[in-house]
Amino acid sequence: MYSVKFDIITIFPNIFSGFTSESLLAKAQERRILSIKTHYLRDWTLDRHQTVDGKPYGGGPGLVMRVEPIFKAISDIRKKTKAKKSKTVLLSPRGKKFDQATAKKWAKLDQVILICGRYEGVDERVADYIADEVISVGDYVLNGGEVAAMVVIESVSRHLPGFMHDAESASKDDHAQYTKPEIFEPKKGTEWRVPKVLLSGNHGKIEEWRKGH
Ligand code: SAH
Repeated sequence: MYSVKFDIITIFPNIFSGFTSESLLAKAQERRILSIKTHYLRDWTLDRHQTVDGKPYGGGPGLVMRVEPIFKAISDIRKKTKAKKSKTVLLSPRGKKFDQATAKKWAKLDQVILICGRYEGVDERVADYIADEVISVGDYVLNGGEVAAMVVIESVSRHLPGFMHDAESASKDDHAQYTKPEIFEPKKGTEWRVPKVLLSGNHGKIEEWRKGH
């Protein structure tokens, strides 16, 4: 069975189609290491216009996403999937900063439900009463939570057993790397060389060099 199920609540499910159908994530879904499912928020609206937003109380520009459709969507998804270890995450630029340690921790869950905001953001009651965690992927503001959700999915997936070809590379510290050719000449008389130590075959020295690069 799946290690982790990602359930995404969004008003733009198509944003995820390329992301989920290419490369390692596509293979991992085929091999049932993980599942990624998008849920169209407007399916949980009651009115004819499928309204998911409203004007902010107290005034101000733009629109805010309403709490009721999100509440209904999450209740339905939780009821249907019945995952034991499940976390509901609201993506927000005001949330706790996402990092590698959190990605590793979440890889042990059965389910991660990701709520993608749009417009001016989401009614704060979603953060207060529905989400287990409010997460930011960085100190900048995006148009919506979809790209942030992809960041979370990709970084968590790398820690799932069988996801990477080389399990070691899932969390290994990154360092500078080189491949062929040993000497590249972008123009006559200019040489871009691979550092000598990497060609030395001295593994102790190579490790030491990598720590600083
Ligand atoms: N005015 C809002 C910003 C809304 S941006 C505020 O200050 O909270 C619209 C949506 O994009 C947000 O609801 C959130 O889901 C998503 N988003 C934007 N930047 C993000 C970030 N850095 N990390 C995670 N989600 C983000």
